[in-house]
Amino acid sequence: MLNRMYRSTVLGVATQKPIEQLVRSRAWNVAQRFVAGESSATAIAAAQELAADGILSNLDLLGEFVNSVETANEFAEKILAIQNEAAAAGVVPYVSIKLSSVGQGQTVQNGEDLGYLNARRIVGNARALGGFVCLDMEDHPRVDQTLAQFRALVAEFGNKTVGTVLQSYLYRSEADRTGLDDLHPNLRIVKGAYLEPESVAMPAKSDVDASYRRLVYAHMKAGNYVNVATHDDSIIDDVKMFVLSHGIPKTQFEFQMLYGIRRDLQKKLATEGFTVRVYLPYGRDWYAYFSRRIAERPANVMFVLRGMLKG
Ligand SMILES: Cc1cc2nc3c(=O)[nH]c(=O)nc-3n(C[C@H](O)[C@H](O)[C@H](O)COP(=O)(O)OP(=O)(O)OC[C@H]3O[C@@H](n4cnc5c(N)ncnc54)[C@H](O)[C@@H]3O)c2cc1C
Repeated sequence: MLNRMYRSTVLGVATQKPIEQLVRSRAWNVAQRFVAGESSATAIAAAQELAADGILSNLDLLGEFVNSVETANEFAEKILAIQNEAAAAGVVPYVSIKLSSVGQGQTVQNGEDLGYLNARRIVGNARALGGFVCLDMEDHPRVDQTLAQFRALVAEFGNKTVGTVLQSYLYRSEADRTGLDDLHPNLRIVKGAYLEPESVAMPAKSDVDASYRRLVYAHMKAGNYVNVATHDDSIIDDVKMFVLSHGIPKTQFEFQMLYGIRRDLQKKLATEGFTVRVYLPYGRDWYAYFSRRIAERPANVMFVLRGMLKG
């Protein structure tokens, strides 16, 4: 409950324009802990550094809730460009996209959803380059459309080229997982980062954590590929025990973490022979992503304030 109050306070304050202006102008030095620079070149360099430690990357151009056709198309072009640049630099073009950033919810002339059309181009490019696209999950009003679009993309491109995300804080996610089973989908399981009403999302952290374990275990037992995306030590330890006791091979799952969070644990897991992939956000539009990271952990507010005072 306290957790929820803290998150709602930070995310509420973060939406105020003067706060945004202040943080944008003074906190870039702090944001760089979580964001791999503002350009595709810095992101690819960060991916190469991680690769030297045996860690894979998931490139994410920051930006969301775009509401013009032109901006959504420009955004999609930038994602296509980084896929090509990564492949040329010898980095597997594994990207995450937020459908809202490429036009989801905007209907274009032929009655189709722009987000879906752009996602098709990006997933098609991933298939041509031997890459992968994960459709991030955003706030709850987008879940139905995202899952429907995911289903259509898997039908066209197969489940080895496109995956999506389920959030354990949503009451609906266990039913959603079962409903996707026929696709044998590649799913990333996360706890959920948005401020959601109690009518749709569990308010107690213990319930969210229990739901997280259930989702991971059920997806593994169904024989599907799971991206265990968390920094939670106790969940990671339990997953390690679960795979041992159920004979789940290391090729059927990977651990995923966010850039700049628990680097020690990322390296340790990679050294132990697990596949580890780091979500590498980059780009000029880092503010919303950064606010969600601060809202996840009270200690991060002090970290930001100290960083801003240092200039
Ligand atoms: C690879 C990846 C992709 C994601 N994609 C999505 C998505 O598509 N949609 C979505 O809603 N959410 C997404 N998330 C965010 C996720 O929902 C959680 O908000 C976030 O991962 C924090 O939860 P946790 O599982 O790490 O557990 P928590 O219980 O929140 O944290 C466990 C421990 O991790 C460390 N930690 C966690 N967060 C931070 C932080 N910000 N700063 C410093 N330490 C921290 C702390 O040591 C903490 O005690 C993603 C997360 C990851 C790792």
